This record gives sequence, C-alpha cells and structure tokens, in this order.
Amino acid sequence: MNAIATRLADVHQRIQCAATKYGRPDDSIQLLAVSKTRPADDIRSAFEAGQYCFGESYLQEAVEKIQQLSDIPAQWHFIGRIQSNKTKIIAEYFDWVHGLCSLKHAQRLNDQRPEGRPPLNVCLQINLSQELSKAGVSPEEIAELAEMIHHLPRLQLQGLMTLPAPAETLEQQRLPFQALRQLRDKIKTDELTLDTLSMGMSADLEAAIAEGATIIRVGTAIFGARNTPK
Ligand SMILES: *Cc1c(COP(=O)(O)O)cnc(C)c1O
Repeated sequence: MNAIATRLADVHQRIQCAATKYGRPDDSIQLLAVSKTRPADDIRSAFEAGQYCFGESYLQEAVEKIQQLSDIPAQWHFIGRIQSNKTKIIAEYFDWVHGLCSLKHAQRLNDQRPEGRPPLNVCLQINLSQELSKAGVSPEEIAELAEMIHHLPRLQLQGLMTLPAPAETLEQQRLPFQALRQLRDKIKTDELTLDTLSMGMSADLEAAIAEGATIIRVGTAIFGARNTPK
C-alpha cells in the first residue's frame, strides 16, 4: 500500500473506534478528504484507495485539479472562504459548499448554479466564538438566514458547519461541537431538518463524532503535513 492508502486506512480505523465508543452507526459519518495544496496525483491515489469526496479551499488550484481529474467521478466540496466575485466558479465546479455565511452569497450561488446540474448542497458556517476575525454567522442570525436560504430553489441547505479554534483535551474539543449540535436542534423544523453537521478535522475528529458530526473534514491525517502553510 502507498502512504496515502495506509493513512486513509488509519483514519477509517479512528472513525470506526470513535463510532463504536459513542454509539454512532459507522455509515452516519462521512469522511471528506481535504486535499487543498496537494497535487492531483495524491487525490488520484486516495480515490483509488476508495475515497470519493474531496475538500478544496483555494479556487484556482481546485479548478485545475478538478479539470485534471475529470475522468474520475469524485465529489467536490468547497471549504474555503467565499468571495463575491468567485461565486460563479464555485457554482459551476462544486457539489457542496461548507462555508456559506451570507444571504448575498447564497443568492449569487443560487442564480449562478448551471441548469442541468442538481441544486448545490450548502452548509451555513457558524461562528460560535463570536471572534470578529473569524468567518461565520452568529447563532442569533442563523434561524432567519436558514429560512431564507431554504427557499432558494437552486440550493439545498443541508446543515451547519463550524471551524473552532484548536483545543488540547477531548473535553475542551467537544464543547464547540456540542454547541453546534444544540444550535441545530434548536432551530431545525420539520421542513428544514439540517441533518448535516460538518465538524471535526485531523486533530479533533473523535470529539466531533462524539457530538454527532456527519461530515468530518480531514487533511493532514490522510495526506501528511502540508508543506505550504496556508
Ligand atoms: C484545512 C482544513 C481542514 C483540514 O484540516 P487538517 O487539520 O489538515 O485535517 C478542515 N476544514 C477546513 C475548513 C480547512 O480549511
């Protein structure tokens, strides 16, 4: 096995252990392989080892790789910051967007989603710590924004995403993930079930699984350390 296949197997092992420990069905947790800054060949290796969903943050390199890998039926998730002048590219190339923070971006993505493609799956990014420097919607704004986005026909609002500051212990790591789950439980309705909780990365995926993550976004544990710190 090559290094990527070996690390991917290790990550699946971690997911399985955490799922068992916290009473979650294995198939309720989807692994998103974060392939930002990695060459297309690494993505191909992961795909050949059974990985299907990939997360990218930087649009230019993402589009190049998506084009280079057009022969494989991978699913592409945009997890970076959204800029208004780039929404058309996102709407054209991606299957999912995790970092949606505004109605303006939602409307642009809705209007720019090409006909003939299914609605774009989106998650609203929540800023739980209220840090001004961080992207995300505040918990107070979320219910109203979710309702408006729910009515955009070319978007499919799947749930919530968060990207907390790193924490040391499992107990500390669980706190923001627990807060995201509780927020979701508070605002969900019969029509807007917000089933997706996109939370957890290489260092804290166990804590996220404990709190109900349905998509974990894992980069370094699969592909090794990123050499260009971005
Ligand atoms: C880079 C990134 C990840 C993956 O982080 P790792 O620590 O490499 O697992 C997850 N989510 C987002 C939004 C990222 O930008």
